[in-house]
Amino acid sequence: MVIVGIDIGATWTRIALADHNGKIISKIKKIATLQEGEDKFDMLRRIELTVRELSTQIGSDIEAIGVGTIGPLDLKKGVILHTPNLPIENVPILRYLRERFRVPVYMVNDCTAAVIGEKFFGVGRHYDNIVYITISTGIGGGAIVDGNVLFGKDGNAVEIGHVVVDHSGKLKCGCGGYGHWEAYTSGKNIGKFADLLLREFFSADEYKLSVLSKCVESPVDLKYSHITKAARANDSLALRILDIVANVNAAGLATVINSYDPDVVSFGGAVILENPPELLLEPLKEKVVKFIINREPEILITPLGEDIVLMGAVAIALDPEVIPKKFREL
Ligand SMILES: [Zn+2]
Repeated sequence: MVIVGIDIGATWTRIALADHNGKIISKIKKIATLQEGEDKFDMLRRIELTVRELSTQIGSDIEAIGVGTIGPLDLKKGVILHTPNLPIENVPILRYLRERFRVPVYMVNDCTAAVIGEKFFGVGRHYDNIVYITISTGIGGGAIVDGNVLFGKDGNAVEIGHVVVDHSGKLKCGCGGYGHWEAYTSGKNIGKFADLLLREFFSADEYKLSVLSKCVESPVDLKYSHITKAARANDSLALRILDIVANVNAAGLATVINSYDPDVVSFGGAVILENPPELLLEPLKEKVVKFIINREPEILITPLGEDIVLMGAVAIALDPEVIPKKFREL
């Protein structure tokens, strides 16, 4: 008997089979979440077929399925409500998989899955207080406090990408709020933030002299890769932008540390995993100290890398009691 882990992202869905120890025993199959012109049932069917294909290859029956998915979710109904990056809504993922496979199916949002993955299989194994933060297209997180995974009334307890890091609210977040962390230093919004900084703090001449002005037509098109590459070549403007980025990230991280008092904070997501730690994580660790009241936690990059949500999905299928009863019973 095998466990199925499913990680549904905005672009890719990753599926794998695991044994009872959480060891991945199939290849990790990566499929498009939604292709051009498809509806939510096409998406669900492709997931179903991929699970069947993997279990046929392994030659073993499925015992339970865990899903970590982009949200927002209605956890009580087991549906993905809508997502800013995909033209689908009310995706009945839990019911669909239960009806097709006739086995227990559990789901949580991707960042909650990630922190559970960290607790079961990563650096969280020896701790009861763990926060996971992803800096990717957006910014999100999951938290375990005193051994309990935080869910909240609707399952949205740890929306840390939307803590306020700028009370003047100069940038508007995709969620409609102002001054939110995600609106400043997420992968999607770093260009808008760089553009704001260039207008407010730097002269036009400085920009013209910088490598960054040769990378893109307009500063709003800047990506992390442009800025970190320029910084590695000692471009002074890029270095100063990253210094301010570290301050904003430190403000967000401090709010999390002051709220949850974690033993360990692990970071993941493409922005963290694909850029040099000495330019992003190390300056953040230095700067956060001045903002926190609680004893400094260990701050590191997750050893689970891009598999962290998938591992969390496996973990909830192995140990569904990490999910509150109200979200387990449809
Ligand atoms: Zn927001």
